[in-house]
Amino acid sequence: MEKVIITAAVTGSLTTRGQNPNLPVTPEEIARAAIESRQAGAAVVHLHVRDPQTGAPVQEPQLFEEAIRIIRAESDVLINVSTGGGPGMTHDERIGVIPALTAKEGLKPDLASLNAGSINFGIYSRKKGAFVLDAVQLNPWSQILRFARTMTQNKVKPEIEIYEAGMINNALVLADIGALEAPLHFQFVLGVMGGLQTTLDNLVFLKNSLPSGATWSVCAVGLDIFPIGAAAIASGGHVRVGLEDGVYVAFKELAASNAQLVSKMVHIAELLGRPPASPAEAGEMLNLPR
Ligand code: ZN
Repeated sequence: MEKVIITAAVTGSLTTRGQNPNLPVTPEEIARAAIESRQAGAAVVHLHVRDPQTGAPVQEPQLFEEAIRIIRAESDVLINVSTGGGPGMTHDERIGVIPALTAKEGLKPDLASLNAGSINFGIYSRKKGAFVLDAVQLNPWSQILRFARTMTQNKVKPEIEIYEAGMINNALVLADIGALEAPLHFQFVLGVMGGLQTTLDNLVFLKNSLPSGATWSVCAVGLDIFPIGAAAIASGGHVRVGLEDGVYVAFKELAASNAQLVSKMVHIAELLGRPPASPAEAGEMLNLPR
């Protein structure tokens, strides 16, 4: 089977230092985590940025610029910039980063995440007896269309994020009206409270719902990524790991770094006979626009 593309999602928008003190927060820390993840075997890094003082999720092009400049000076890892952002961000903020980065020499992202529909997004605290995150990730048709067109026009490959099965058809509608170009690349995001849960049946159903020629990857909340990632590797898919998705590397054992999470997934992939792809190989497999 072909090599596996491992993506490292190094910080995200919801993980906190309270959950894992090793979370990268400043552009320098995020860049170091990306470079180390590449050394551990990741071909792609999925980036969000944080307010360096408070750690809160932000979508500042300047902070992305700082991180990307450090990464590109030292590493060939492919860069996937989030346009999902974080709770409370406007659509303008979320997509604005793509043209802002593309306009500057050497900063164009290779990929960007494209949320293909709306879902409830929640975190429930049993201790508090309440939802500590009670958000709707709002992506109406007009905005998905605008995000897709902006990526295509800027030659940034959309990574279509699938939280619910119907979102695959949403992407096909966009392809049908010319806003997305085949071959499509999907990321199944499993285990979010409000979206599809992490089960083998869900993974198989999603993978079998894709158009022919599509590539796909899976990520999942928490330690579930290791068994479901193994299933994805065994069935021809790709995988994402990182502190965005989970703070543990094993039961009750906090991850020391993103690179440690990547290393564990590399080990699984190698045992299954699919060594990790290099960034150049991943670029070919994903048909990145030139
Ligand atoms: Zn993300």
